[in-house]
Amino acid sequence: MSATPASATVARLLRADLRGQSAYGAPQLDVPVRLNTNENSYAVPPDVVAAITEAVAACASGLNRYPDREFTDLRADLAAWVSTQTGIAVGAEQLWAGNGSNEVLQHVVAAFAGPGRTALGFTPAYSMHPIISRTLGTTWVDGHRGAPSGVFDLDAASAVAQVREVAPQVVFLCSPNNPTGTALPLEVVRAVLDAAPDTLVVVDEAYAEFARPGTPSAVSLLAAYPQLVVTRTMSKAFALAGGRLGYLVAAPEVIDALRLVRMPYHLSSQTQAVARAALAHRASLLAEVEAIKVQRDRIVDVLAAQGFPPVPSDANFVLFGGLADASHTWETLLAHGVLVRDVGIPHHLRVTAGTPEETTAFLDAMAALPTDHRLPTPVGTWTRGGPR
Ligand SMILES: *Cc1c(COP(=O)(O)O)cnc(C)c1O
Repeated sequence: MSATPASATVARLLRADLRGQSAYGAPQLDVPVRLNTNENSYAVPPDVVAAITEAVAACASGLNRYPDREFTDLRADLAAWVSTQTGIAVGAEQLWAGNGSNEVLQHVVAAFAGPGRTALGFTPAYSMHPIISRTLGTTWVDGHRGAPSGVFDLDAASAVAQVREVAPQVVFLCSPNNPTGTALPLEVVRAVLDAAPDTLVVVDEAYAEFARPGTPSAVSLLAAYPQLVVTRTMSKAFALAGGRLGYLVAAPEVIDALRLVRMPYHLSSQTQAVARAALAHRASLLAEVEAIKVQRDRIVDVLAAQGFPPVPSDANFVLFGGLADASHTWETLLAHGVLVRDVGIPHHLRVTAGTPEETTAFLDAMAALPTDHRLPTPVGTWTRGGPR
């Protein structure tokens, strides 16, 4: 028998719908200024390091046993945090968690979408929404954004029309939206919920803690809409991307449905311990959120003055336009030691708000760009001005 190349064998064995697909792959490069994945630039502070170390040590001898499958204590802690952050009382029975909000989204898709079903999102939005949907056999429909207020905005009439046309089992809304940065007005969420009582509506609020004042959370709509799911994460504001802890808030009946698709004991004992220690020390972990927002607003102001139109941001990153060739500028910034994200939107790049020093390095590199990096006539200028 002649040996068949492994690539040919795998290509033959792989699910037909996965052939030729590319995996999620934000570059992880070791450069001085890493502003490409919206991580929190600030290291976990010493008091939280001590608490985490102690919590992991305390659970180590019990690792011969499976963890609490229901992560009861963690759910209570998360419920308390959501209630504090949003001002809306939610109970532990409304909480669910996973190894990052990506896993939580995967549970939602596995339970409510999947083969023979359709999911709809409004592009550009979070690239993992279609990837998770498709890998679980769901038909994905790319909806579109664009409203009188801005090319990346989504208004109620357009969202409702697209939901009616596609009639998906699951619809993804993202607020603040990644990669564009702007929060979705709550009336858009409400309009979609009213128009689609038989659609599960996921509002991805990964960046909620960075929103500008007066931005309400979709958590405030949970009492009225049983088909609503709000997902959040400790990866961004909490500076715990490496800890892998994401969560969602929904009706207890939705949580019950997720138990059908999760792997048993999916949250390890040490993950639960680390997340609880972090939540207990949240004041310390969240201390830099205001400082990051200051840098976010500084990026918006300086880029606007430099002639690279920024999109209004409620997140810890800024999408900006006015570039002749985004990938060329991406490489030029990298040569300056600054890693940003090319999200595939022509003439645009996305940058994370880091420390003041990192932000300065990025803005200096932008100021130093030769003029041929600029579009002759900037496209993607926004008419909506001022903070909300
Ligand atoms: C970063 C991000 C997530 C978080 O993913 P984790 O798995 O929790 O690290 C979820 N949704 C959006 C829109 C994001 O940008």
